[in-house]
Amino acid sequence: MPLEAFSLKESDHENIQHALDECAVTGDDPWNHEKFKPIRSRAKKYYITGQGYRCCYCDQENRTSNGNSWTLDHIVPRNEKSEFSFLPENWAISCPDCNIHKSDKRVLMNSSVKNYPTKSLRFKIIHPHHDEFADHIVRRNFVYQPKDDKGKFTIYACDLLRFAADHIKWPLSPADKRYEDEVNLILIGDVGAAALKEQILDDLFHRNSGN
Ligand SMILES: [Zn+2]
Repeated sequence: MPLEAFSLKESDHENIQHALDECAVTGDDPWNHEKFKPIRSRAKKYYITGQGYRCCYCDQENRTSNGNSWTLDHIVPRNEKSEFSFLPENWAISCPDCNIHKSDKRVLMNSSVKNYPTKSLRFKIIHPHHDEFADHIVRRNFVYQPKDDKGKFTIYACDLLRFAADHIKWPLSPADKRYEDEVNLILIGDVGAAALKEQILDDLFHRNSGN
């Protein structure tokens, strides 16, 4: 069931406006303004339970409400669309690692939209308010298999291959920068790149290709 957005009270709207107005003058970040912090904290708690203690991008469960274990993520990053920063429909909780990997990657199909899109197909990434994770990615513990382009983009944007790499203790992550382009091409089904797979695995595993 898609996630309901956190609802802002009348006083929340006033406090957000206050933070925005004041920071427009001081140059400080309104996201860290004293008037906004309590709202941010309530929203975070709301999404932690609303998402069933699961990160919206990697789907891993972490049954803790400890704020340090979760990040209130801007689904559309602030530098893609700063005007969406204070819209609760643009918030979700993610694990800190997915948040770091996702970073400022652009997730809108069309970054020039004026209003916040209300349809799943407007977003390249899995959007917890519009999508079901399992419709786009098949996950078996640490293995993520995309079912469509949205699944592929989410795996790429949040580097979900990192779980398998950590789990089987590969000497290098499959997202090793040396092969970033090739791995992305293989993920999108490029036949030419797929032919390089063995060679890449040989390098990553330090396998002896003569054996
Ligand atoms: Zn995650």
